[in-house]
Amino acid sequence: MFVDLDVHQGNGNASIMADEPRVFVFSMHGAKNHPFRKQVSDLDIELDNDTGDEQYLQILAQTLPRLIMDFAPDMIFYQSAVDVLATDKLGKFGLTIEGCKARDEYVLLSLLLSHKRHNSLPAHTYTKYRENH
Ligand SMILES: [Zn+2]
Repeated sequence: MFVDLDVHQGNGNASIMADEPRVFVFSMHGAKNHPFRKQVSDLDIELDNDTGDEQYLQILAQTLPRLIMDFAPDMIFYQSAVDVLATDKLGKFGLTIEGCKARDEYVLLSLLLSHKRHNSLPAHTYTKYRENH
């Protein structure tokens, strides 16, 4: 599984893994940011400029644990880019350093907690995920 929280869509991973059902690509990125021609990930969440800490973290919390539970990945690559920060001239999400730190802690905690739960969950397949969502 790819969890790509760079402000720019993970279009390379989305494209390369498009026909690979064993890999789930999740990208949360700026709707009005490069690349302007987006690829199709397994789940793309597009956010507006100046989303800010509260809304960003709320959307992440509503999404990531469910994805991890449903897909039950053996391995997760986390793209923890800092171009979500308000100080990034090209990012435009407007997150504070505290918000970015909270994001990373939340993602890592979700991964740690899910690791334990995986072992007792039945294996969910990509196909099953796609049928239900
Ligand atoms: Zn970027």
